[in-house]
Amino acid sequence: MNYSKPKFKEKYGNFINGKFEAPDDGEYFDNHSPIDNMLLAKYPRSKESVVKKAIEAANNAKDAWGKTSVGERSAILMKIADVIEANLNEFAQMETADNGKAIRETVNADVPLAVDHFRYFASVIRAEEGSATELNENTVSLIIREPLGVVAQIIPWNFPLLMLAWKVAPALASGNCVVLKPAEQTPASATFLAERIGDLLPPGVFNVIHGFGPEAGKPLASSGKVDKVAFTGETTTGQLIMQYASKNLNPVTMELGGKSPNVFFSSIMDHDDDFLDKCIEGAVLFAFNQGEVCTAPSRLLIQEDIYDAFIEKVIARTEAIKMGDPFDMNTMMGAQASNDQHEKILSYIEIGKEEGAEVLTGGGAKKLDGDLSNGFYIQPTILKGHNKMRVFQEEIFGPVLAVCTFKDEAEAIEIANDTLYGLGAGVWTRDAHQLYQIPRAIKAGRVWVNCYHDYPAHAPFGGYKKSGFGRENHLMMLNHYRQTKNMLISYDKKKL
Ligand code: NAD
Repeated sequence: MNYSKPKFKEKYGNFINGKFEAPDDGEYFDNHSPIDNMLLAKYPRSKESVVKKAIEAANNAKDAWGKTSVGERSAILMKIADVIEANLNEFAQMETADNGKAIRETVNADVPLAVDHFRYFASVIRAEEGSATELNENTVSLIIREPLGVVAQIIPWNFPLLMLAWKVAPALASGNCVVLKPAEQTPASATFLAERIGDLLPPGVFNVIHGFGPEAGKPLASSGKVDKVAFTGETTTGQLIMQYASKNLNPVTMELGGKSPNVFFSSIMDHDDDFLDKCIEGAVLFAFNQGEVCTAPSRLLIQEDIYDAFIEKVIARTEAIKMGDPFDMNTMMGAQASNDQHEKILSYIEIGKEEGAEVLTGGGAKKLDGDLSNGFYIQPTILKGHNKMRVFQEEIFGPVLAVCTFKDEAEAIEIANDTLYGLGAGVWTRDAHQLYQIPRAIKAGRVWVNCYHDYPAHAPFGGYKKSGFGRENHLMMLNHYRQTKNMLISYDKKKL
C-alpha cells in the first residue's frame, strides 16, 4: 500500500454530548504538520464555557452509563476496537501527518496497540470477580467497585491515539464518562475517533474538547464537577494539575517525564551472535518515535571494558538509520512533532557541546528535500560525557543519546539512579545474577531486561520519583477509576 497525507476538513469542532460543535466564541487555532509545516486543519480554541458544557454533558450521562452491565460495556469497547482496526491505515496516516512519526511505526505500533487496549479492557472486566468475606457466622463483608463518575483526561502529543486508548479504555470499561483534552499539537486522531465511534456510545459518555493547556486544560482539571483527573505530560505541568485538582480533593494519576538509563554489561560481548545484534538494536532505540517517548532510553551506560568495541557498533547502526519521507514505509525516523520541539532539541545539543560532551555522531538538524525541507528533522545524535551534565539529567525528548561508561555493578546502579526520574530502564546482560539483581536495584517503574520498548496492555506501567504515580495498562488500572464500596451485612436477628 502507498501511504500519503490524508485529506482533512478545513475545520473541526469539539465533540460534546454526542455531536460536533463549533466553539462558542468562534475561535479556532491552526494545526500544522511537522512533516512539511503545511496547515492541516483548524480546531476550536476552547475556553472555560465550553469545558463546562462538556463536563455537564458527562455528568448528565454518568448515572445511566454507570449502571450499564459489564457485558454491555464490554461489547461496546470491542466494537470500538473493531472500528479502529477497520480504519487502521486511515488512523496511521492521520497520526503520521499530525505527529511526524514514521508510518511504519503508526501502522505497526501506535494503532494496533490502541486496538489491543480496547480489547484488553473489554475482556478483563468480564473476567473480574468480587470478594465476599464471612467475618463471623452472621456477618458478611462485600467489596463492590463503583465508577467514580466523570473523569477529566489530559494527554500529550507523542502518542496521540495510544495515550487516548490508555486513558479512555479503562475509564469507560469501569463505567465512567470522559472529558478528554488532546494536546493542541496533535488534535487529529481523537477527532477522527469521535467521528467513527460517536454513535456507539450514549451522548455525553465520551467528550473531546480541543484547546491550549492554560485555557482548556486548566478549567478541566480545576473543575469541582469532575471526580478524577488523569494526566500524561511533563512533570512541571503535572505539578500544576495536582494543584488544580487538590482544590476539590480530586484524585489524580500522573504519567510524567523520564530520563531512562539503558545499561549494557560486558557479558553481552562474550559471543558474536544474534543476542549481540539484539543488544545493538536495543541501544539505538532512541530513534524510535524520534526519541519522543517518555521511556526513551536516553542515557546509554556501557561497561568500560567493552566500551570501544560496543560503541563502534552502536555508531555504525545509528548512521544506518534511514531518515526521509515519513509516509515511506522504509523510513525509520520521521519529523520531530513541532517547531518548538525541534528548537528545544537543537538547543540541548548545543548545551551538550558547551558542557564539553563529545559528539560521536549527528549533532544537528537534518535538511530533507522539496516540501520536506520545511519540516522539523534532526539527525540521530550521540553525545559522550558524564552523568552530571545537563544532557544526562534533563529530558530532551528527542533523538539525542547521552553515553557514559561504568566500572562495575555498583557504579552502574549509582549512575542509573542518579536522576530525578524513575520511569523506564533497560538492563542487558548474559549473567543470571545481574539480570535479576540490577533491575531490582534500579528505581524505576518498568525495567526491561534484555528487551526494551514493549508495551503490552496487561503489564503495569508507571513511574517512580518525579515520573509520577499511579499505573496504566493492566487490570490494576481499573481501580484507579473506581471507588471501593464495602457493604457490611448482618444476618443476626437480635445482636446489633
Ligand atoms: P505537556 O505537559 O506540555 O502537555 C501535556 C498536556 O497538558 C497537553 O494536552 C497540554 O495542552 C496540557 N497542559 C499544558 N499546560 C497545562 C495547564 N497549565 N493546565 C492543564 N493542562 C495543561 O507535555 P507534552 O509536551 O505534550 O508531552 C511531553 C511530556 O509527556 C514529556 O515530559 C513526556 O515524558 C511525557 N509523557 C509521559 C508519559 C508517561 O506515560 N509517563 C507518556 C507520554 C509522554
